[in-house]
Amino acid sequence: MAERIGIFGGTFDPPHLGHLILAECAVSALNLSRVLFVLTADPPHKRDHTITPITHRLPMIERAIAGNSCFELSRIDIDRPGPHYTSDTVRLLHEQFSDAQLFFLLGGDSLHDLPTWHDPAAIVAHVTLAVMRRPADHVEISQLIAQMPNVAGHFQFVDAPTIGISATQIRERLHAGHSIRYQVPEAVIMYIQQHRLYV
Ligand code: ATP
Repeated sequence: MAERIGIFGGTFDPPHLGHLILAECAVSALNLSRVLFVLTADPPHKRDHTITPITHRLPMIERAIAGNSCFELSRIDIDRPGPHYTSDTVRLLHEQFSDAQLFFLLGGDSLHDLPTWHDPAAIVAHVTLAVMRRPADHVEISQLIAQMPNVAGHFQFVDAPTIGISATQIRERLHAGHSIRYQVPEAVIMYIQQHRLYV
């Protein structure tokens, strides 16, 4: 049987429990052997705010996924020049893991925005979308299929608790001097404190 691999792309600025819960629930719901965390070095859609340098985001994601034998870091978007379009990332991973069945993990907010991404049909051609709902994410599957017919049959929801944590809100809490304990892994909090990030 083909290996079943999850691809989980993000800026992870910083990684939080919402990310880890999504990945873990996807492993169990979809029977994945592993999840590749694809740290996006230069995300085309997030050029409106300053992103923490990769030299900090990389050690944070390494700390966040350490200890889970199903979680791996993929350097695919770190070792090639940007901008990093998901369609290219997915195509390259499809070439790398040509015998595997690939699942692209994403939150409901990202699914809603998918039609605005670069070449979204090419993304769905190579993967099954595995979606975890987010509070107030406005997912309209019939509307999405009307816009992108190849989503039909390449899509499923991941059964998981809805988690109202976002990296934006974590950055805002840190900036305001509020606690992020229990929302971000302990080892990542220690890294953030050591390097005085998001102050
Ligand atoms: P930001 O607030 O900076 O936009 P984020 O918290 O959405 O960041 P990203 O790194 O942009 O984190 O997200 C990577 C992926 O994880 C996206 O597909 C996003 O939808 C998903 N995701 C993030 N947080 C959650 C959550 N709490 N529940 C479900 N999916 C999530």
